[in-house]
Formats: sequence, C-alpha cells, structure tokens
Amino acid sequence: MIPFLSVLFLAQAIGLGSASPTQSKPRATTLYDYIVVGSGPAGIITASRLSQNSAKNVLLLEGGGPSYYVTGGTERPAWLAGTNLSRVDVPGLYLSIFSNPSSMTCGSNVNAFGGCTIGGSSAINAGLFFEPPVSDFDTYFPTGWKHSDLVPSISRLYQTQPSSNNPSADQVRYLQSGYSAAKNWLVTRAGYTETDINANSAQKTKVFGHPVYDYNNAQRGGPVISYMQTALKRTNFHLQSGALVQRVLRSGSTATGVVAIVNGVTTTYSLSATGRVILSGGALRSPELLMKSGIGDPAVLTRLQQANKLGGLPSSSWINNTAVGAALFDNPNTFIELSGPSVQSYVYSYDNPIPADAALYLQHRDGPYSFASEISVFWDTVKRTDGSLAGMQGTIGSAGYNGYQNSSTVTLNIYGTSGLKSSGKVVLDSNFVPGPSGVYYSNPQDSLDIATFIHGIFAALPGSGLTPLNLAQSSSIADIQKYITTYSPYAEGQVNHWSSSCRFGTCVDTNTTVIGMKNLHVVDGSIVAPLTVNPQFGIMVAAERAWELITKLG
Ligand SMILES: Cc1cc2nc3c(=O)[nH]c(=O)nc-3n(C[C@H](O)[C@H](O)[C@H](O)COP(=O)(O)OP(=O)(O)OC[C@H]3O[C@@H](n4cnc5c(N)ncnc54)[C@H](O)[C@@H]3O)c2cc1C
Repeated sequence: MIPFLSVLFLAQAIGLGSASPTQSKPRATTLYDYIVVGSGPAGIITASRLSQNSAKNVLLLEGGGPSYYVTGGTERPAWLAGTNLSRVDVPGLYLSIFSNPSSMTCGSNVNAFGGCTIGGSSAINAGLFFEPPVSDFDTYFPTGWKHSDLVPSISRLYQTQPSSNNPSADQVRYLQSGYSAAKNWLVTRAGYTETDINANSAQKTKVFGHPVYDYNNAQRGGPVISYMQTALKRTNFHLQSGALVQRVLRSGSTATGVVAIVNGVTTTYSLSATGRVILSGGALRSPELLMKSGIGDPAVLTRLQQANKLGGLPSSSWINNTAVGAALFDNPNTFIELSGPSVQSYVYSYDNPIPADAALYLQHRDGPYSFASEISVFWDTVKRTDGSLAGMQGTIGSAGYNGYQNSSTVTLNIYGTSGLKSSGKVVLDSNFVPGPSGVYYSNPQDSLDIATFIHGIFAALPGSGLTPLNLAQSSSIADIQKYITTYSPYAEGQVNHWSSSCRFGTCVDTNTTVIGMKNLHVVDGSIVAPLTVNPQFGIMVAAERAWELITKLG
C-alpha cells in the first residue's frame, strides 16, 4: 500500500521523534575506521558486516529513534500493553503507519513518506521480501555486480535473514478468499502459473503465488532483528541513534569525518587515517548529504553556498557532478478495487482488533495479525516492439480502499517495475529539504506498457467472479492510460520504493566509491537499479556485495 499526499502532509506535521537512548557508547573523541550514516537495511548490513573485523572500529549513525521493542520502541496500542511488542513488531499493524501518527516516520526531514528510525523504512514497511530475478542483475547492473558476482551475497542474505510465505505460527493460511478469487482469475483464466515465488525467483513472466515476508516467528524481522542484534554484541560496533548527520567533512577528495546534531548538540565524528564514510541514508537523503558536502550539480551547490549550508566549503573544493540525485526511480502505481461474491475482505485495526484475532496473535502468533495484509502477488512482462521488456507486478491486499470499502472488496496494487523508461531526480526545496521530482511517466512508453498489461488481465475477468469497481472492465488501452496517469486516490501515488539516484558509473564507481572521492561511499537504494520486485531484498544484497568490495579496498 502507499500513502497519498494527505498522508504525507500528516506525516510531516507529526515531525520526527525525539532523540532516543544510545545503544552503545560511541565517543566523538574516538577515531572510527568506518562511519556509516543511516540505519536502514543497507546501513545496518554494511556496518554489521564491517564490524566482523574486530580490529576495525565501526560507528552507525541514525537520525531517528527507537522502533522495534528490542531497540527501546514503546509506541503501541493498548492491546499490546504488558508484552514485549511495539507496534513495529506486529506485522498486522503495518497499514496503521498511514493512519495512526508515529514518531518513526521521516516528518520534515524529507518530502516523502518513509521510516526515519532504527531500521529505516524496514521498520515500517510491509516486509515483502522477494529475490530479484537473475536477469535484473545481468541486464541492469555493471561489471562486478552481475548475478554470478552476487551469488555469495544472496546466499549470506538467506543464511542471515529468515523469511516465509506462510508466517502464522500454526502454518494456517488466513484470509484466503481473495487469494482463491485471484487464482481463479489469473491462473485458471489468464494462463498464470501458481508458484513458490522465491524458490523460482528467476521466473517473473505470468507467475502468481503467496507473498514472502522477512519475518521471524510471526513478528517483524528484517535487518534490525537479524544483522543488528548480532553486531550489537561486538565491542567494536557502535550505534548512535538521534544523530542527524549534516554533512561529510573532507579534505579535497578525502573524507575526514562527519558533522551531526546529536540531542541538539553539534558533534563531529572523525575517521582514522585509513577510515571510510559510507552514506546509507536512502535514495532521497544520501544524495542530499552529498550535495550538502559540496558534491553535486554546481547550480545546487551554488544555492546551498548562498544559504550558508556548505559549512564554508569554498567552490574550489566542490566536486561538480550532475549525476548526484539524478535518475531517481519509484514504481508508478495504480489501485484497482476488485469485488466478488466469494471475497470476504478483512480490515486491520490499530486500536481495536477483533478480540479473537488479537488473542490468536498474542497467545500463539497465529492469525491475520501474523502478516501485513497482502494476500497474493503476481508478475508478468510486457514485450515492446523493439524487443525490450517492461516488468509488471500486482499485489493484492485484504480490503477495499478509499471509496470502495464494502465487505467483498479487495485492493489490487499494480505497478511497473524493471525496464521502465521514466525517472526523475532528487531536488532540494526552498528549505533545502530533499524530495522527489518528475519521477512517474516522464516517458509515455511506461503508461502505454502498464495500460497494455492491465488491459490484458482485465480481458480474463469475465466469468472469474471478480469485477473492477473504479475502472470499467471494458476500458480501452487509451482509457486505462488516461486513468493511470491522472492523479486520484487510485493513481499516481508514491510507492516509496525509491532507488537509483546515485547510479554506478556516473555517481559511484563499481566499488561504491563516490566519483571524485577516495574514501566516501554510497550503499543503499541509491545505487540499486529499478528492480522487478519490491526493493528491500535487492538493497540488502547490494549491501552484502558492497561490504566485500569495501573490505578489499583496505
Ligand atoms: C510504507 C513503505 C512500505 C514499503 N514496503 C516494502 C516492502 O514490503 N518490501 C520492500 O522490499 N520494500 C518496501 N518498501 C521500501 C523499502 O522499505 C526501502 O526500499 C528500503 O527500506 C530502503 O532501504 P535503504 O537502506 O536504502 O534506506 P532507508 O530504509 O530509507 O533508511 C535510511 C535511514 O537513514 C537515516 N538517515 C537518512 N539521512 C540521515 C542523516 N543525514 N543522518 C542520520 N541518519 C539518516 C534515516 O533516518 C533512515 O533510518 C516500503 C517502503 C515504505 C516507506
């Protein structure tokens, strides 16, 4: 699911949570071998892996505060009182992040919705965990990042990060009426194959199945639980939350440390002589940090300098590079409300779950609250006249949305994925807050491809028992193209799968080193090309690979 602008503004009004307790005791006077900025999936994995070398002093800085209960997170509804669960830990509370205010969202730090907390967006997302197909790496990634190069990274990820397509502890699949109806439509009538999605990850043409989640024992998992808890046991790994990094300090092409605001105090963290800074602030905010460190489009750097936002860095020290923040990607999405007599929708509640379902979860980790409301998923590819491919994904949630919320409606979220031709860029607004600009449908080929895909699956709807409510089943490709490119509660929203804003070859080299710098890296969604699947798995793989490469640099 995605938030729309109203939710975005609500989130911004809420603001970022106050600084949280320190998890260990980093000192501003210590010299660090690695300073990693941002504890999203990429930052956690990179910092955790780097700390496996006990001779290296690793500092992970996070601007936000606690999230999971184990991190000190206490935000939760009354029905979780007395448990060792925060709202983050319960998968079924996923959608509440869009409706129930949280200190964990990014607030005024970024003009988009996301998690700014320990775990980054992995602490607030649905936890969908799909391995990208081999072809994504082989087609869209550079030398050194092809699938064959990434096999050890993928293998380590699977070894470290549990996942399941049937998370409830009793192994019962709940809320399956929507799954059955979609299967009857797509598998029986549209020629899709029902498959075990990650077991057959290479297959992304006409496949349908159960969503895979990165949960541990029916609680939210992800890198905070898997990688970070192991790293926190190491004396050379330090996590400082509530530390909002302002810029990288550098002497020419050598980073020397970072400046952060920690609990309201401006604090400098310095690198050892052979140290490295790794930016893992996410695809919107790592480019922001580069720009605020004097690396980026000279027009933007001039604006920053005029507003005294470059820490006095003279223009002679700028690294001019218009690729910083360019080519930003997010999936263009459309919601299609589907209704049918066999469908029973299920609405999750933050404060007031059905008592029997709350009890199932609290006593046994069973039931609908053991997963984040997504009940089925499917992919296909559209082949263009020039032979190139555009990836398409559909994910079906358990309930209707906005104007279509009767008891027999579910929501299909369709989006374009890999191979799309549109991209935008990261821009700084008048307050120098970063955000996306011009991301969706800048190339009309994308809306044509997505409309063609929707038209194709709609053709198999008659007789399936499902009826689309917000877009007529008989719509032409042109009708659909118009619908998906016209802003409404159902179209043109942000999916928040930000990626690709600091691409290999132009912004970073294939060691993830920022071009023009010797010891400054970007490792997060920024370096990951648009994927056929939801991005977190691929971002985690990228961090595993980056660790191998950065370690080799010494
Ligand atoms: C609501 C929602 C649902 C989603 N659902 C899914 C899903 O089900 N499956 C999936 O694969 N993907 C999903 N995504 C996307 C996925 O969560 C992101 O792609 C992923 O978390 C990005 O990882 P990252 O490490 O690049 O950065 P992020 O997760 O964005 O983490 C960056 C971290 O860096 C911190 N930071 C940034 N700048 C600074 C600074 N200057 N100083 C200190 N700290 C800083 C931030 O506070 C944040 O904690 C979803 C995203 C959202 C928002």
